Amino acid sequence: MSTYILGVESTAHTFSVSVVSSDGRILSNEKSIYKPAAGRGIHPFEASQHHLALAGTVLERAIRESGVGEEDLSAVAYAMGPGLGPCLRVGAVVARTLASSLAVPLVPVNHAVGHIELGCLLTGARDPVVLLVSGGHTMVIAYSGGRWRILGEGLDLTLGQLLDQFGRHAGLASPCGAAVEAAASKSSSYHRLPYSVKGNDVSFSGLLTAAKEKLDAGVSFESVSFSIQETAFAMVTEVTERALAFTGKSELMVVGGVAANARLAGMMTTMAARHSARANLAPVSYSGDCGAQIAWTGSLAFASGVQVPVSDADVRQSWRLDTVDIPWRN
Ligand code: AMP
Ligand code: MG
Repeated sequence: MSTYILGVESTAHTFSVSVVSSDGRILSNEKSIYKPAAGRGIHPFEASQHHLALAGTVLERAIRESGVGEEDLSAVAYAMGPGLGPCLRVGAVVARTLASSLAVPLVPVNHAVGHIELGCLLTGARDPVVLLVSGGHTMVIAYSGGRWRILGEGLDLTLGQLLDQFGRHAGLASPCGAAVEAAASKSSSYHRLPYSVKGNDVSFSGLLTAAKEKLDAGVSFESVSFSIQETAFAMVTEVTERALAFTGKSELMVVGGVAANARLAGMMTTMAARHSARANLAPVSYSGDCGAQIAWTGSLAFASGVQVPVSDADVRQSWRLDTVDIPWRN
């Protein structure tokens, strides 16, 4: 018999609540996204105020839309971290309150694991090399010995931050990835930018500075967008290819908000084909942050006995993926 789990996501700009069934049906996935003013990044306190103001409405909609009665929920999952402290705390308070009032267990979920496990559910990937590229992460990951291991990562900015900060410099409102993609598709004029791969890690700060300088020097937004995408996506494709060759795995999966980018998807698909690996791309509507990532991972974790007493249900702003035990994959 199916059980029903509710999940709460609030690590950064998105407040989202979802209800899933233990056999992998997403019954609702409601969200509200905080949008900073044009030219500005996420202000953690302002984002948390947005989450506080919208939490009740989003929660109510997610439960109503799912068709599941509150009394039929078996557990409440929440993103314990990593993320922005003030935002995380709103999700934790909502989840603690709901779990206490319904007298059901509370399940802590690592946000990065959420991106990966929902990606596996939706694409059918079983044991992939994962590229997680979002506002909060740039990581190449593979499962081994009970944990998701990090085989390469961003050393400074994330790929999402690179695109967002570049777009904001051009006067756009964050998040800017989709607008940069649209502009890039109108150009094929490549301007040389710093390509920085160190071991199996990537560094984007020099690339961002150089791209801003090109804009300031009068190169068109379309051409610099094309050049920044070609450079940054080639860097992450190189390190992901090395991880695929090293592990010998036969599946590749791309998740996180930047997975919505068609040019990145094209590079990944071409590279995977060279290794006879299947490329799995998270569906655009679920590639960014959402409650379904937390609810589905919470469902897997809950079935493996993971839960936390309400009194210990804090938040962990820095919670590295490779410190999280994954009992359901053993
Ligand atoms: P997440 O943190 O997973 O919600 O992902 C948000 C990030 O994805 C932001 O940095 C966005 O700019 C980025 N993003 C969203 N759509 C696209 C796109 N089409 N191309 C590149 N980046 C994107
Ligand atoms: Mg994310």
